[in-house]
Amino acid sequence: MNNNILSDRIINATESATLAMTRMSRELKAKGIEIITLSIGEPDFNTPDPIKESAKKAIDENITHYPPVAGYKELRQAIAHKFKRDNQLDFDMEQVVVSNGAKQSLANIFLSILNPGDEVIVPAPYWVSYIEMIKIAGGVPVVIDTYIKDNFTLHPQQLEAAISPRTKAFLINSPGNPTGKVFSKEELDTLAAVLEKHPDILVISDEIYEYLNFDGVHHSIASCKGMKERTVVVNGVSKGYAMTGWRIGYMAGPKFIADACIKLQGQYTSGASGISQMAALSAVENDPSDSEYLTFMKRSFKERRDLMIEKIRKDLPEMKTNIPEGAFYLFPDVTAYFGKTDGKRTINTANDLVMYLLHEAHVALVTGEAFGSPDNIRISYATSPELLIRAIEQMKPALEKLR
Ligand code: PMP
Ligand code: GLU
Repeated sequence: MNNNILSDRIINATESATLAMTRMSRELKAKGIEIITLSIGEPDFNTPDPIKESAKKAIDENITHYPPVAGYKELRQAIAHKFKRDNQLDFDMEQVVVSNGAKQSLANIFLSILNPGDEVIVPAPYWVSYIEMIKIAGGVPVVIDTYIKDNFTLHPQQLEAAISPRTKAFLINSPGNPTGKVFSKEELDTLAAVLEKHPDILVISDEIYEYLNFDGVHHSIASCKGMKERTVVVNGVSKGYAMTGWRIGYMAGPKFIADACIKLQGQYTSGASGISQMAALSAVENDPSDSEYLTFMKRSFKERRDLMIEKIRKDLPEMKTNIPEGAFYLFPDVTAYFGKTDGKRTINTANDLVMYLLHEAHVALVTGEAFGSPDNIRISYATSPELLIRAIEQMKPALEKLR
């Protein structure tokens, strides 16, 4: 059969660059080449034992039947409680929908609100999947650039200028992937003030890195004046509790959006694995203010961030990095390498540099092009300090060969 059976929707979509790079490094590893993978954003820690125990118990208790489409009541209630406890936001259980990862929560939202041609404002650098998800749902991403020299902040005038009669939603991600940018309450207030003048725009706030905020307190844009009733908050257990493979994420927002997401996933997935939901329940019940695991994890990532910044500034001085306040990525400007060559390969783009480092230094990173920022590359430092140091040591001679 000919592949022209494929839809335009899927032909025009691109593969996730983070997952593609991780696939490529797995392929090289299978050939016996040792690759240090700094391409995927996932904690190297294992899921904490008490969470794993809850999943084992769920199996023994036969929580193995089709789950309620929106998620088990206990979990939805615990998530509503988490919003109150951590974010001072009041949501009813009916406003919460549990899905197969925050990825599906986002896909549900876009598919629920977008008609062909509807616009979603997305600040760049953005997480790779937003743009493709919006396009697959028939929408049009409207990208606003933010810059490293500005610490990747988004100015209210930029938001105002991007709004058009077709704007359906504004997407914000704090702490951000790939920049590590954390929006302060003051910054969020200035954006909320713009949105107040445009009451029909939905705000989608991706807060999956909430617990990875190194220097300050996490603020949700939903807690800014006038925002709660028109914001959908997306979060999950993947990053905070090292639970990427359990595939549990959730959204909370206006009930009509929750109902739309439930209708959609009732047709698409029948809900998320009940076993994973019971594990997620034991994660979200933890109060972060006295969770040993969250304290340890945050401290470890902060130490790794500091280590990487120090090593990059010392050993790879042509990579220009800022100091991200959250998540577990660095997003340095690498334009200093453009136009240089090792005699065999010339580096003209961030993608060229990433491929060069994969083959010459055996370090897997992700090109900034995939995040809407062609001057940068993304380095995930969610791995052990030993491997991080080795990665820099392997990149140093490879980069020094470029003249
Ligand atoms: N949002 C952002 C910004 C992310 O980096 C990720 C990581 N994949 C997700 C959402 C989705 O997370 P998950 O589907 O694992 O919950
Ligand atoms: N969010 C992670 C990343 O950006 C996981 C991979 C993905 O889902 O794209 O690397």
